[in-house]
Amino acid sequence: MKTSQQLQAMCGELLDWYVQQDRTLPWRIRPEDRAAGRAVDPYKVWLSEIMCQQTTTNAAAAYWYKFLDKWPGVQDLAAAPRDDIMGAWAGLGYYARARNLHKCAQIICADYNGVFPKTEAELLKLPGIGPYSAAAIAAICYKEASNVVDGNVERVISRIFRVQEKLPKAKPVLRNLAATLAGAFSHSGSHVGSYLGHPGDYAQGLMDLGAHICKPKNPKCNLCPWQGHCLAFATGDPENYPKRKPKPERPSRYGAVFYVEQDGYIWLRRRPDKGLLGGMMELPGTDWSVGKPNVETWLSQAPLKGDWQPIEGEIVHVFTHFTLYLTVFTAQVRSSGFAISADVNRLDDYALPSLMRKAIAKAARL
Ligand code: SF4
Repeated sequence: MKTSQQLQAMCGELLDWYVQQDRTLPWRIRPEDRAAGRAVDPYKVWLSEIMCQQTTTNAAAAYWYKFLDKWPGVQDLAAAPRDDIMGAWAGLGYYARARNLHKCAQIICADYNGVFPKTEAELLKLPGIGPYSAAAIAAICYKEASNVVDGNVERVISRIFRVQEKLPKAKPVLRNLAATLAGAFSHSGSHVGSYLGHPGDYAQGLMDLGAHICKPKNPKCNLCPWQGHCLAFATGDPENYPKRKPKPERPSRYGAVFYVEQDGYIWLRRRPDKGLLGGMMELPGTDWSVGKPNVETWLSQAPLKGDWQPIEGEIVHVFTHFTLYLTVFTAQVRSSGFAISADVNRLDDYALPSLMRKAIAKAARL
């Protein structure tokens, strides 16, 4: 175990490194920005934290700009129709985030007078804000010395201390070790010139270290400010950490969708609010079953009778817990209408997840 002096030295070294980096992000207020009088905006930070869950910062940035352009403040987002938010989120995945984003904005406006709560504990009560996001927002926006731990931070900590416990059981161990460091930071006052002790800088430095230096493969230990403290570096085996229980193989599921285009409109329907892709639009289709059913079973779930033909080659789409093999059927059918008819030239206006965009693109290429 490291002494409190060692831990405090580590915090200072991390901050020195963070200040020297010129890595910035559109939503980030760096120490020099703060010194120049730029204030952090909790709405922008919250949006970025929700978007960056399960998504790379590059992909999230384009959506972040789009959302701020459409809804510059939390009141604008709260007042927007949910379908517009789902449509703007389409392609970013994990759609519960978009539903919760809207709910959260409405609660902030109704119960908090449009002002984000200022503590990790209060933030945690809001929909879509989990322990990591609450800690990050509290540290960055309100200088709370919270313990910000995501998968990247877990990796850094597991290597520094060579934690032998396997994930996911190791989570509390890693969290406690990270808390020890965060505690040392809040007691150290830190020593980075005029940029004294901002927990948001410490948290962002640690996240940057995990994301860009202490990578899962080929960590850039020669650029790491914590090399001298890192037990895994000393033993030459950082890639062995964190230890993990082997993941079970991802199972497969099979389904079909039915593409109907009529006079420049295609048929869509909305998925139920609860569950995968909840609240998003889709082509009418079948259940997604564990085994591949015969074609008759699928056709019995077609939205109407017709000469349905499968398009060659399934769409393979990887979800977190399974891989979906999706067959697209087309037919020349006419009918007096369907629940939702979408203009093929304006599909960007519809909340279509990327899976359905792939299916439509496949059918439209015929
Ligand atoms: S020395 Fe290498 S393994 Fe250790 S924390 Fe730094 S980048 Fe990660």
